[in-house]
Amino acid sequence: MLQQTTVNAVIPYYQKWVKKYPSMESVAKANEQDLLKMWQGLGYYSRVRNIKKAANLFIEKFEGIVPKDPELLRKIPGFGPYTVGAVLSIAYDLRVPIIDANVRRVFMRLLGIEGYADTSKDSVILDILNGLMPQKKNNIFNQALMELGALVCRSKEPLCVMCPVNHFCAAYDRGIQEIIPTPKKKVINEIDVSIAVIKKGGKYFIQQRSSSGLLAGLWEFPGGKVEKGEAPLVALKREIKEELDVDLKSAKHMMDIVHYYTSFKVRLHVYLCELEQKLKLEEGRKWVFVNEFNQYPMPSGSAKIVEKLISQ
Ligand code: SF4
Repeated sequence: MLQQTTVNAVIPYYQKWVKKYPSMESVAKANEQDLLKMWQGLGYYSRVRNIKKAANLFIEKFEGIVPKDPELLRKIPGFGPYTVGAVLSIAYDLRVPIIDANVRRVFMRLLGIEGYADTSKDSVILDILNGLMPQKKNNIFNQALMELGALVCRSKEPLCVMCPVNHFCAAYDRGIQEIIPTPKKKVINEIDVSIAVIKKGGKYFIQQRSSSGLLAGLWEFPGGKVEKGEAPLVALKREIKEELDVDLKSAKHMMDIVHYYTSFKVRLHVYLCELEQKLKLEEGRKWVFVNEFNQYPMPSGSAKIVEKLISQ
């Protein structure tokens, strides 16, 4: 959960997760849709699929025990260098370093390495870390470094005066800690999407995204991207025809919803629609009552529409 996500965002998800899935066996046995539902809103959904794949592999090949060998762990889905380091040092107290965004920033400043905080800096940092790591308590050492970055050597306004390592910090010594690493220019792409809320006899129509690609396997209201120069309503008619092979009879604007993903902003134009023809019900298509939405994992945009439907 902590890959690419802050501790504060993770805590409520983690608490719910360990209550419902307290063991590796319970994750391996769980239905993937239930796991996705629990993950809804946390993003990067491939992580939850990898947790399930990893649990199955640990049980099938390693008798339910996470191996201590970094080479074996690297072959498990979802285990990159950060997760391998975190698991081996925190769970087994092995001498394996971790470089996350916090640790990278701390070391760039300590060593006075200028430039963007990207992985090209990691080989130098790794050399230093391999020499610095203690023989014991590597769990504490790694967590302390990550916490130092999160709480003291913060990306903005680092607390250098109270920092326990300020006496050997090159950036502090030269007064350049605020410009290391070089701040990234944020490019936010904006996307407009038209969405159809189709209601029949108190039920709403939703469909499942394909099992690969972005937001794979999640459920959503039908619709799609508004092309450049296209009006949202025109896009809606086109998308519904393409996706469901039916024509719109009417479309009444219900609301606009703005949602931010990591690298883009989406504006959802939501319409309450009636169709000219009957919808074919096939696999991956459902009609659900409002109180049944909680059984279907959805991307955050569709979940926001559901919240509005419930509040109405
Ligand atoms: Fe970071 Fe400042 Fe500490 Fe250097 S002295 S490690 S810049 S908080």
